[in-house]
Amino acid sequence: MGRFVEGGRKSLARMGAGRDVGAVRTVIYPGSFDPITNGHLDVIERAAKLFDRVIVAVAVNSSKAPLFTKDQRQAQITEAAAVLGNVEVSAFDGLLVDFARDQKAQAIIRGLRAVSDFEFEFQLALMNRKLEPDIETIFMMPRETYTFLSSKLVKEIAQLGGDVSAFVSPHVERALTECRK
Ligand code: ADP
Repeated sequence: MGRFVEGGRKSLARMGAGRDVGAVRTVIYPGSFDPITNGHLDVIERAAKLFDRVIVAVAVNSSKAPLFTKDQRQAQITEAAAVLGNVEVSAFDGLLVDFARDQKAQAIIRGLRAVSDFEFEFQLALMNRKLEPDIETIFMMPRETYTFLSSKLVKEIAQLGGDVSAFVSPHVERALTECRK
């Protein structure tokens, strides 16, 4: 019996589980969030149920030219996720795995909408694992109604005067309307 328990503990430790018992489980949800949509929010809500601490991290050093500044995007996310007590908003401009390590995160969350997301996300996840083997990437699927939703489409619709109220929070809708003026 004693040997069994001892062996069990050892194999748990080997898997890295023993070290983390009782520790705060932190996950990073990185992205451009230009702007945050209801699809992103759906993923954040799911992550907030699974982890103690969710850090939504705005990527600053993105090759994409964003419509909203880093500060605007952070403020939009903060307001949209205000009801979730365990969600923080931050920004990073270096390697994601370095940021995740600094935050003592165990995992990175990415959203998967369709097969078209898979190839890029798969490459990214494996590259991040190569750079930092201790940090896992977890994929989450949003509610079906959000699988067609992207920040890019929302921006295009808003730019052309379309109604985006079903896709973003009211304060984001207002910000998109302001951009047209
Ligand atoms: P990035 O520039 O990293 O793609 P995005 O803000 O577009 O940043 O997306 C951040 C993450 O959220 C990505 O993993 C993306 O696949 C996911 N995502 C984007 N839109 C949705 C959505 N409608 N439902 C679920 N996940 C989404």
